[in-house]
Amino acid sequence: AKRECRGHAVVFADRHDREIRKVRQIEHELHTADLDKEIHILFQRQFDTATNRTTGYEVLARWNSPVLGEVSPMEFIPLAEHIGLISKVTQTVLRKALAVSATLPKHIRLSVNLSAHDIGSATAIKAIAGLLKQAGTPRRIDFEITETAVMRDLDQANSSLLTLLALGSRIALDDFGTGHSSLTHVQRLPLDRIKVDRSFVTDICNDRTSQAIIKTTTELCRNLGISCVIEGVETQEELDVLVGLGGTVIQGYLFGRPVDADTMLAQLARERTV
Ligand code: C2E
Ligand code: CA
Ligand code: CA
Ligand code: CA
Repeated sequence: AKRECRGHAVVFADRHDREIRKVRQIEHELHTADLDKEIHILFQRQFDTATNRTTGYEVLARWNSPVLGEVSPMEFIPLAEHIGLISKVTQTVLRKALAVSATLPKHIRLSVNLSAHDIGSATAIKAIAGLLKQAGTPRRIDFEITETAVMRDLDQANSSLLTLLALGSRIALDDFGTGHSSLTHVQRLPLDRIKVDRSFVTDICNDRTSQAIIKTTTELCRNLGISCVIEGVETQEELDVLVGLGGTVIQGYLFGRPVDADTMLAQLARERTV
């Protein structure tokens, strides 16, 4: 009965307080985490429906905290950025991805996500380049960047990306269409691939605007001679529409959820025998 007397503002302030305390706790655990032990990586297949082959896998970070349990990357990546830990997280993910990439068939490439700080800092890029070099050849690591990550300093971003290209990595522009001035980035950055954001696929069967955007983007990529990956494909119906619009390389639950390295290797072994 007492609760009912409380005004909305009080309830809201209460919840706000709780959320802040929760964020502080996650930050604290992240600060004190043994990243090498607590962060692991999963792999999500990218599949070309035109050739019926897997082309590569995206590397997705998972944090298993002994105190908090599994924390989603949607939660801990922004916090790691906020508290200045993101470079360490990126390097941990990259080190693990490099180790796994050595065990994969030659044509399979792994894509690692970079954050704004990784691309915007010469020191961070030097560390990443160092890990790539240290791993020796062959290196089969590509990188994904977002538009918001390159916005702050396009010149530094360009020079960072050129460093990675020189080491044999390819660059994908992630979440294409959701940022600002996407076409400026296509024009000004050395890209090998565009990844169309999942939000354009969600309603693809009914939404003519989404259909037009996908069609135009696949054409743009074809004209530029770069590849186009469409994210978030969950159903056969969506796939049929997308293929009709010219999209062939797909990443989404329809072709597999993120899986561990052993499952990925088994998936690839099966593909080679058919
Ligand atoms: P993202 O880079 O856009 O990665 C794709 C996300 O979409 C992944 O979520 C993936 O599991 C999910 N996804 C893939 N296919 C489907 C689908 O068909 N349906 C639906 N509903 N979802 C799908 P995840 O693994 O939770 O990662 C979320 C975000 O966290 C990533 O979005 C990325 O921005 C960030 N992230 C993950 N790992 C890293 C990392 O190592 N470094 C950085 N900087 N960011 C990371
Ligand atoms: Ca990504
Ligand atoms: Ca994406
Ligand atoms: Ca997305």
